[in-house]
Amino acid sequence: MTETPKSLRVHIGIFGRANAGKSSLLNLIAGQSLAIVSEIAGTTTDVVRKSMELAPLGPVAFLDTAGIDDQSNLGEQRTAKTLEALASSDIVLVVAPPGQWGLFEQQIADKARAQNTPVIPVVTKIDLQPADPDWLNRIEAECGTKALAVSCAQAASDHAVREQFLNRLASALLAVCPESLLSPPPLLGDLISRAEKTATAPPVAVLVVPVDSGAPKGRLILPQVQAIRDALDSGIAACVVRECEYEGFLSSLSRAPDLVVCDSQVARFVAERTPSESALTTFSILFSRAKGDIVSMAAGAARIQSLKPENRVLVAEACTHHAMKDDIGTVKIPRWLRKAAGPGVRIDHARGRDYPDTLAEYALVIHCGSCTLTRREMLVRIQKAKEAGVPITNYGIAISALQGVAERMLEPFPEALSAWRTALGADKAQISERTISMEAP
Ligand code: SF4
Repeated sequence: MTETPKSLRVHIGIFGRANAGKSSLLNLIAGQSLAIVSEIAGTTTDVVRKSMELAPLGPVAFLDTAGIDDQSNLGEQRTAKTLEALASSDIVLVVAPPGQWGLFEQQIADKARAQNTPVIPVVTKIDLQPADPDWLNRIEAECGTKALAVSCAQAASDHAVREQFLNRLASALLAVCPESLLSPPPLLGDLISRAEKTATAPPVAVLVVPVDSGAPKGRLILPQVQAIRDALDSGIAACVVRECEYEGFLSSLSRAPDLVVCDSQVARFVAERTPSESALTTFSILFSRAKGDIVSMAAGAARIQSLKPENRVLVAEACTHHAMKDDIGTVKIPRWLRKAAGPGVRIDHARGRDYPDTLAEYALVIHCGSCTLTRREMLVRIQKAKEAGVPITNYGIAISALQGVAERMLEPFPEALSAWRTALGADKAQISERTISMEAP
């Protein structure tokens, strides 16, 4: 089963009066005709559910409900179902055309807030009538959030307008989404199949960790420690070796390891020595999934293939650690990028809480593993890049791309691999030309 269970999706309820534009909104979001749309009020008779991936939130389910101002008998049944949907919504969208915010809308917003469910007002049909600023202020105050305005008719016929609206919607949802619903997927436990886990001997994960001058004295770094702990929690035997002992260790095993996780800097070295039947990835790629949105990050890495010498790249780190000699963010990545795209590539750095509002000036953002950020903080950074129209990736996927092993390292994550391949598009032919020769570990 590869589908996210319903219970693990963020449920977003769409509420409002009959014919307020709820079904058109759902169709716009889904990009297809799921709910029947008609000018006759009350066409939606039951709750229509649409499960989808909405980056950067992840798996979500939209619930399109019946208009709750229908006073007929059938209307009472609809109202009951609509209120059931309200109870199971994690976030509520209250939909109303300009000027149409009365008792019904207020009741929905009040009920939602009484159950601690965030409410976002969505003002529809703005092509027919603009929203009065005082009215807008009042409904924003009642809901406690900024309103989203949209003409579904215009957005449905203009790809760029639809994309802009979806980005604004994703940002608004992310801002109010309860932290508990942004819980990360497992670090590595799900990368080994159940059959392998239930075999007599435990599955084996080999973690390849260079111990060079950049490694902290007397300890492992947090991502390595967390990977070991996740392996133990998942019933996986974790073996830790340096890259110089890797081949010798492999030859001592009676079978290929089920999973190999390596430091990004030795990705190609390890890929060249790892049996094809072993799943292989890097610590940093594991964290791009756990801390952010691996699908967007994989697509973003493809931009490296078409970087030009006149482009600007932002390298963003979430902390202000003291840079060592041969520091990855300030020395190695800039060196590899210039080697791949030309010496003129300008590379700016952002550190700590500093994340510029001028992202649109960049051709690419390369972000660190973000171990000091919460998942929400990293998702917000990804979303800001998307809103600015700038691809974003992280150190691990970028380095794997520069080493020419991104395909191999993304294989354990089919959706990310597919996004990388799609984003490569016409640039795919250039991939081997862009692959630079990395320093031997
Ligand atoms: S926040 Fe980023 S730069 Fe700082 S230690 Fe974590 S991964 Fe490295």
